[in-house]
Amino acid sequence: MTLGSSASSPPVAAVVTVGDELLYGETLNTNGSWLGEQLSRVGLAVHRRMVVRDVREDSQAAVASSLEIGEVVVVTGGLGPTPDDLTRDAVASLLGVPLVEDPSLLQHLTARFQARGYDTIPEQGRRMALVPKNGEVLPNPLGAAPGIVFHCSKEGLCILLPGVPKEMKGIFSQGVEPLLRERYSQRLEEVLHRVVNTHGVPESILMDEIRGLFPGDANDISLAFLPDEVGVRLRFSTRQSQGADVASKKLDDLEKLLSPVLDRYRYEAASGDLAEAVGGALHGAGETLAVAESCTGGLISK
Ligand code: AMP
Ligand code: MG
Repeated sequence: MTLGSSASSPPVAAVVTVGDELLYGETLNTNGSWLGEQLSRVGLAVHRRMVVRDVREDSQAAVASSLEIGEVVVVTGGLGPTPDDLTRDAVASLLGVPLVEDPSLLQHLTARFQARGYDTIPEQGRRMALVPKNGEVLPNPLGAAPGIVFHCSKEGLCILLPGVPKEMKGIFSQGVEPLLRERYSQRLEEVLHRVVNTHGVPESILMDEIRGLFPGDANDISLAFLPDEVGVRLRFSTRQSQGADVASKKLDDLEKLLSPVLDRYRYEAASGDLAEAVGGALHGAGETLAVAESCTGGLISK
C-alpha cells in the first residue's frame, strides 16, 4: 500500500528475466532483485519486472510490452550456446535488427575453448559471437557470452545480459552502468529511502491515523506500508533531484509532522529486529533483564 507519488522524469526501466527454472521456483530470481536495486541506485525509475519461460514468443512479448512503458529494458538469461538459449535471436527478430558475427569476439571465444584444451569452438558456441548490426558489445570479464545492446529508438536501449549471476553483475558494473550514466546523465535521479519501524498497531489503523496528518501536497514523498510478523515498516521515499541534503530535509520535515502518530508505535533498530530495539533501550537506560523461562527452550534469553 502506498500513499503519495512522485513525477517520473528519470528514464523508466523494465527488467525481464528469462528461464523456466525461475518460474518453477527451482532457481531464486536473484538477478531480478539485484538489477532492480542497481538500476534504482543509478537513478532510473524501475517500473516493471517480468519472469518468462524459455519460449521465443514469450520473451518477445515481454520485451515489446516493456518498451511501451520504458526506455531501458534489461533482459537476463538465455544467451548461452544451448537450444533453450533463445533470447538473442528472439529480441533481434522482434526489433528487426540483423545479427552479424563479430570476428574479434569469435576469436576471443575460440581462444577460451582452446585454453581449456579443445581444438576449436563448437558450432553451437559460435552463436555467442552474434551481435546486433549497429549495436554494442559489452565484454564479459568472467565468462563467455558478452552483454549486447540494441538501440531501439532515439533514446531507448534493450540490453541483454547472461543469466549466470556473477557474469551478469560483472557486465553490469563494467559496461551497463557506465553506459547508462553517460547516456542519461542529466536525467538520472537517485531515490532516498527512510524506514521507520513500528510495532503493536495493525496496518489499516496506522494508515488511518497517518492519513489524518499526511499533507495533500506530500512534497514528492511517497510512503509505503510494509507489514511483516514483527510490525509495519514505513518506507518514505523521495527523489534527490535537488540534492541529497534537500531530500533528507524533506523527509525530516514529514517525519516531524507525523510524529504524533509515529512516536506512539516506532522503535529504533537498524536491523528492524525488535530484540535489537529492546537491547538498545535497556542498554541506554542502564537496565538489565532477567528471565525465568519454562518450556521455551531458552528462546527469550536468546
Ligand atoms: P542462462 O543464461 O539462461 O543459460 O542461465 C545460466 C545460469 O544462470 C543458470 O544456472 C540459471 O539458473 C542462472 N540464472 C538465470 N537467470 C537467473 C536469474 N534471474 N537469477 C538467478 N540465476 C539465474
Ligand atoms: Mg536459461
